[in-house]
Amino acid sequence: MVVGRDWTLARIQEALSNGELTCENLVEDYLLKIEESKDLNAYIEVFAAESRRRARILDEIFQSGERPMGRLWGAVISLKDVIAYAGHKLTAGSKILEGYESLFSATAVERLIAEDAIIIGRVNCDEFAMGSDNETSVYGPVRNAQAPDHVPGGSSGGSAVAVQANTCLLSVGSDTGGSVRQPASFCDLIGFKPSYGRISRHGLIAYASSFDQIGLIGRELEDLKLSYEVMQGQDEYDGTCATSEMLPNRKMNSNGSMRLAYIEDAMTHAGLQPEIQHAFHKNLEDLEAEGHQVEKISFDLMEYIIPCYYVLTAAEASSNLSRYDGIRYGYRVEGSSQLDDMYTKTRTRGFGTEVKRRILLGTFVLSVGYYDAYFAKAQKIRRLIKEQFDGWTSQYDAVLLPMTPTTAWKLGSGKSPVEIYLADIYSVLANLVGAPAMSIPLGKDRDQLPFGLQILTAEFDEERLFFVASHMRKIQQNRL
Ligand code: GLN
Repeated sequence: MVVGRDWTLARIQEALSNGELTCENLVEDYLLKIEESKDLNAYIEVFAAESRRRARILDEIFQSGERPMGRLWGAVISLKDVIAYAGHKLTAGSKILEGYESLFSATAVERLIAEDAIIIGRVNCDEFAMGSDNETSVYGPVRNAQAPDHVPGGSSGGSAVAVQANTCLLSVGSDTGGSVRQPASFCDLIGFKPSYGRISRHGLIAYASSFDQIGLIGRELEDLKLSYEVMQGQDEYDGTCATSEMLPNRKMNSNGSMRLAYIEDAMTHAGLQPEIQHAFHKNLEDLEAEGHQVEKISFDLMEYIIPCYYVLTAAEASSNLSRYDGIRYGYRVEGSSQLDDMYTKTRTRGFGTEVKRRILLGTFVLSVGYYDAYFAKAQKIRRLIKEQFDGWTSQYDAVLLPMTPTTAWKLGSGKSPVEIYLADIYSVLANLVGAPAMSIPLGKDRDQLPFGLQILTAEFDEERLFFVASHMRKIQQNRL
């Protein structure tokens, strides 16, 4: 029995309930696919014996009827290597955490397990989630399953490919500036980042704490929605967890028509691939034809978005990563008799080039002489962007953007760091303002490489985001 590529969790649960399938079959099937797709390098570690054991236990519980099955019964999930799972290794794709094993599980992981999800493995990512193509991992690059000489995107590249290659139903990633949405777009999947503070960051390795959020990659909206609902909510271990409920005051139009805006400056951006531009506009026409209101808005702060994001995230990263000193976690260079010498050697050898670049940049923008010119200024710009964004979402149900300016690039393309940063032009807005955002498949270019459409709604309005996304998916399906 092989699970169909288009099976939702509801379909899997139906098959489990009527005896067509067992959790054991399910896990065997995924393990086989992991083996078959090994060359893609998506997995760092496969929890084969453990997931088989857990599947057997869940099957026994179901057969005995001793308790109702959890909401995620039958959901086989992989975890990005930045999310803690008690008793399992955790390295953020970095040498500096070599050998480190987590003593506790992330709150999000505990909640998934409590609803009977099965965790099948730990997947590859850019080192400390810094990157856009999964080329900065100490475990080597991940290959895009559809075009193995291309990157899968990043930093949650392993997560995207794990789902793309049908080795799990869903993957839990993290998104600081696009890391679940951009790889989802490069791999023809759905990537969802909730509002900042919706899902506890307890047990998520920190990159930039005021931007980081756990997110999900999958194929089906309803699966993402359900697992998001399981993971979200207050947590005593994360003081930045949101306490507000869904925004109750703004209703959808009573006739179901949506008020949508798209950012004109994004569409005239010089680096935007013409096929993406074309498909985006075609999509807008389809929405209008269905009776939805589509308006363009302008965003004069657009050019500040990348510098603002990189100044602030580098600053936060330089502070967060100071804890990796060779004493407390993971890797340590032996043979130093002086403490400072040991710190220096450990950090020099333990971190990769991209991470070091960001620590240096972050330390620079926080230094006494430059703090006001860079860090403080970027904070002010972030505030202005947030005010502008809140103005849009008080008027429109959603703001639409392409997910990426181009489709996936070739592995080892030798792009400069700045070129790679600039490719985040559409993805970082959601993290700068704390809004929920999602990438859904939009089309394919002439080389059949996929690209996505991004939907953003007001902070904490995930409900509207799922509503808009499912509407758009229906319109897309009707067109096929
Ligand atoms: N590409 C962005 C960066 O390198 C986003 C990464 C992320 O979301 N973790 O910072």
